[in-house]
Amino acid sequence: MQDGTAGAMRLRFWGVRGSLPSPGAGTQIFGGNTCCVELCCGPHLLMLDAGTGARGLGDALVAGGGPVSVDLLLSHSHLDHIAGLPFFAPIYQNGTRLRIWGGHLGRGGLEAALDRSWSAPLMPDLRRMFRAELRFEEFRQGSVLQVQPGLRVTTAALRHPGGCTGYRVEWQDKVVAYATDTEHKPGDLDPNVLHLARDADVLVYDASYEEAEFASHLGWGHSTWQHAVRLAEVAGVRRLVLFHHEPGRDDMALAKIEQQAAARRPGTLAAREGMMIEL
Ligand SMILES: [Zn+2]
Ligand SMILES: [Zn+2]
Repeated sequence: MQDGTAGAMRLRFWGVRGSLPSPGAGTQIFGGNTCCVELCCGPHLLMLDAGTGARGLGDALVAGGGPVSVDLLLSHSHLDHIAGLPFFAPIYQNGTRLRIWGGHLGRGGLEAALDRSWSAPLMPDLRRMFRAELRFEEFRQGSVLQVQPGLRVTTAALRHPGGCTGYRVEWQDKVVAYATDTEHKPGDLDPNVLHLARDADVLVYDASYEEAEFASHLGWGHSTWQHAVRLAEVAGVRRLVLFHHEPGRDDMALAKIEQQAAARRPGTLAAREGMMIEL
């Protein structure tokens, strides 16, 4: 997992659902786990969010053998983005190095929020069982992070209750933008998202709703697939990936959305568990 060919950038989706896991017969194709994306940049392993999909990624890393070194870029700390961390097997292994990046909370807020999620009465007190070397890296949204040598990570604030961060990851001549949990203003393209997505090879974007559902969900902090298509068009994105699917959306509904979106913008995909994109 961590010894990809130098130069290669690879995305693998382990959880694509927003808000709540949605297992069941109707979600077997797209999957029911919440947000977690593996992003390999040459020898570097990044993780975009750690929803329940992080369990599968952790198991795969352990099965791959060798010490795990991972930089987790958190969009924010809502449960659907962090619930998988206590089930991420490498966290219980000596030799694991896990750096957790977050910019949506004030000083000390990131570690405090995660600690709370790992502590009684929400969980048994798990932190003392963790064996990984944990580091928390807080940053100001809008800054450029030096996560690893040769890797450039640009950050920007997104519109979401409690705050959220979008990322643009550049490795050699490839760009992946990740902007989930963000609400657009009707008729307006968020300059922050445009900045992250400009000429990106891949844009992973919050497409929780359809246009017809949007008005009744104002203030919830999410966007639509129709808006995603507009954004991708203006930003000159090569490939749009719809993400953070509504938990109530079954495989048939998602396939239909994917088809409609791809009719407007060829190549558009609805993220599904296990999907890989190589750049
Ligand atoms: Zn979410
Ligand atoms: Zn959220």
